[in-house]
Amino acid sequence: MDIDPYRGALNKMAKKVLVLEDETSIRGFVVINLRRAGYEPIEAGTGAEAFEQLRLNPDIQVALLDIMLPDTDGFEVCRKLRASDPHIGIIMLSARTQEMDKVTGLMTGADDYVTKPFSPAELTARIDALFRRAGNGAASEPGELIQGPFRLNTRNRTLEKNGQRIKLTQVEYSIIKMFMDNPGKALSREDILGTVWGRDYFGEVKIADVNIRRLRIKIEDDPTNPTYITTVWGYGYKWGL
Ligand code: CA
Repeated sequence: MDIDPYRGALNKMAKKVLVLEDETSIRGFVVINLRRAGYEPIEAGTGAEAFEQLRLNPDIQVALLDIMLPDTDGFEVCRKLRASDPHIGIIMLSARTQEMDKVTGLMTGADDYVTKPFSPAELTARIDALFRRAGNGAASEPGELIQGPFRLNTRNRTLEKNGQRIKLTQVEYSIIKMFMDNPGKALSREDILGTVWGRDYFGEVKIADVNIRRLRIKIEDDPTNPTYITTVWGYGYKWGL
């Protein structure tokens, strides 16, 4: 037998990343750097190609989405992709720097964004952070956290409120897990960023606010008057029931 179990294990762990970018020079640059960092890039130049590749490669764990595309826009791809897969990591590749675009992208379900031009180190740090979240949960910490109307299953990484499943992204799951691990404790935005995105995260603290705003829409009875995730002014957030 010439089957090498170590090699088999490596193949099984192939870390596939969808690269949806119509500009071939940028896509080539991203692909080369992802390969160098140990990822398996799957290329697409249009929204239609991206969905075809996602169908052919159901084990893609992270998607990089350009915004200006020939047949659609990245926000639309993001919205559709998130609706069909709550767990995939999504990073928007944004050429625009206006805050509004970042917020729009995140509200359609993206976990993160990088603004062009970006360095290879910056991009792979963001991707690494999403893979750590996607990979770690499965093996560790079996069990449940039950607080008030919420039941967090840490084995399946699912949340129920009053017995109803709430669809969460990986980032949203990590945030709520952090809150439920620290009930009643004020958590700074930097704490949240460090725990959820990783200590080596390059991004802005604001991304924690945007994800929490989206989480509130999903879990609060009245998102404009939140009672579970409350704001600690000038500091961060607190989970309380
Ligand atoms: Ca483009």
